[in-house]
Amino acid sequence: MIKQKNMQAVVYKGNGEVILTERPVPKLIDPKDALIKVTLSTICSSDIHIKHGSVPKAIPGTILGHEFVGEVVEIGSDVHNFSVGDRVAVNVETFCGDCFFCKQGFVNNCEDKNGGWALGCRIDGGQSEYCRIPYADNGLTRIPDTVSDEAALFTGDILSTGYWAAKIGDLKPAQTVVVIGAGPTGLCTMMSARLYSPSKLIVIDHDPYRLQYAKEQGLADITYCTEHNPSMDEIETFVKKECNNRGADVVFEVAGGKNTFEMAWRIARANANIVVVALYEEAQTLPLPDMYGKNLTFKTGGVDGSYCDEIMELIANGKLDTNCLITHQTALSDAMHAYDIFENKKDHVIKYLLKP
Ligand SMILES: [Zn+2]
Ligand SMILES: [Zn+2]
Repeated sequence: MIKQKNMQAVVYKGNGEVILTERPVPKLIDPKDALIKVTLSTICSSDIHIKHGSVPKAIPGTILGHEFVGEVVEIGSDVHNFSVGDRVAVNVETFCGDCFFCKQGFVNNCEDKNGGWALGCRIDGGQSEYCRIPYADNGLTRIPDTVSDEAALFTGDILSTGYWAAKIGDLKPAQTVVVIGAGPTGLCTMMSARLYSPSKLIVIDHDPYRLQYAKEQGLADITYCTEHNPSMDEIETFVKKECNNRGADVVFEVAGGKNTFEMAWRIARANANIVVVALYEEAQTLPLPDMYGKNLTFKTGGVDGSYCDEIMELIANGKLDTNCLITHQTALSDAMHAYDIFENKKDHVIKYLLKP
């Protein structure tokens, strides 16, 4: 049993406000729960979406944070795969494992009342010292001794997203790939797409620094900067020329900008797959007459976080390495400063780590 009564936590207050405050240390409420002592947490752009009110399901008063690792400190009587003392990565999604969707791996749509993305949205998350994990046998992934907390941190959320996107993109070796958006999830999508050996990976973003970074890290082969608002025709012409005069075989839309949905289908070749990973703040239009005859396939998010074991295996063997995402870290007590830097994309931040 944990003796500590209260803890620090970052809480979504509603009305565009996020605060650092004190909360009671959570208790187990179901035999399938585990209690985690958070060792490392981070801020995700989805936290900023919650703050801005663009996640309708988010409940004010909830502790934020859905991307974190920790140590198991307590388990319910019906937790079988984990023991106290295990180092674990937490899955962004809570899932029962038994319903129609879970059985097919579509855990984002788990029919449980807390199924899907609940942590740090509808139930208390991990920007805190401790966190209760429902369905712990499903929602945790053991971190091998050879893998650091930092290396495992993104397993359950943005790396799961990139990995899942590459999977549903149905990539084949030697195809041309465009990733729109060179932020943290874009970088994870690039490294996951590279597992399928594309012939060319093009990255489009408006931030020249992020593009250069993606190239330096060996994730992008070719970059295209939209900083000075090129026309859609110019962007389309560039991509077409780089992609066998046809357009991209697979497009990943990870930016969620004003015109990036249109960009995604414009730069795709006929019969391409377009994976929409982005979470938009406003509705998008699908102008079917304009794309008639292109015979496109659209696949849309959010992530099914059902590949964490595979991802951890690839991390442990050096095939996926997200260390390049970590640009900043601070104590949990300094979280509001970190939110300011991350939300306003100051100081070339990619990921800001919070240490409880
Ligand atoms: Zn996230
Ligand atoms: Zn389920």
